[in-house]
Amino acid sequence: MIVAANWKMNPSFDAAGRLVAGLDACSFQPVKRILFLPHPYLVPLSVRLGQSEIRLGGQDCHQDAAGAHTGDVSAAMLRDCGASIVLLGHSERRANHGETSELVAAKARQALAHGLDVMICLGETLGEREAGKAEQVVIDQLRISVPDDTPHDRLMIAYEPVWAIGTGEVASLDDIVAMHNAIASELPKSQEGVAAAKVPVVYGGSVNAENAAAIFALDNVYGGLVGGASLDAEAFGSICDSARTQMSKS
Ligand code: PEP
Repeated sequence: MIVAANWKMNPSFDAAGRLVAGLDACSFQPVKRILFLPHPYLVPLSVRLGQSEIRLGGQDCHQDAAGAHTGDVSAAMLRDCGASIVLLGHSERRANHGETSELVAAKARQALAHGLDVMICLGETLGEREAGKAEQVVIDQLRISVPDDTPHDRLMIAYEPVWAIGTGEVASLDDIVAMHNAIASELPKSQEGVAAAKVPVVYGGSVNAENAAAIFALDNVYGGLVGGASLDAEAFGSICDSARTQMSKS
């Protein structure tokens, strides 16, 4: 089980220091915790965390190794600043920056080449779900966004229905299971030679301390990607505890 925090463009640097101190005060092993931080926070917070079990990640990287890309950050820079993983293809990047699945795949290749693991986000809009196209959209994103030769042990997938992100709306448990099953059965096809069962697929979209246990108990759900609730150490701890409880049952 993996519980990953997506801080997005939050919080202030002072609050981030307090938050990370709160998160590092407890262990939730064997649950794996990842914090996807604003890039300027990587160096100071990786120094502060030292040998902590918490992994740090970037929220995006450029598809080129270096060059004239004002305002962008390379995979090697993230790695050198304390990240061991990068979040790619988040729906806010796809919507606000026009990122296509082809671009996400190019970024993933760059990240993998520079020693970063990748968590690749997939998800349908409300319109696509209402039109009955949710599964087709997500599977198409999966086929294109994940490079064929991605090593299974360096890949995580986050299924995040766009309409559930930051809205308080959570997909129904039946819809989550259906999509996670579809992704799990597609993985061997999209990745030659990969054992699908080894690629964790986490759910994201308004996960909180109240609903995490029910979501984590679902088949083929290997944890969560958490936005809003990850900015509260107590709520995030409770979500991690739900993941740990689920692991102790299975
Ligand atoms: C996210 O940003 O990936 C996310 C899931 O946000 P929230 O938990 O706030 O819906």
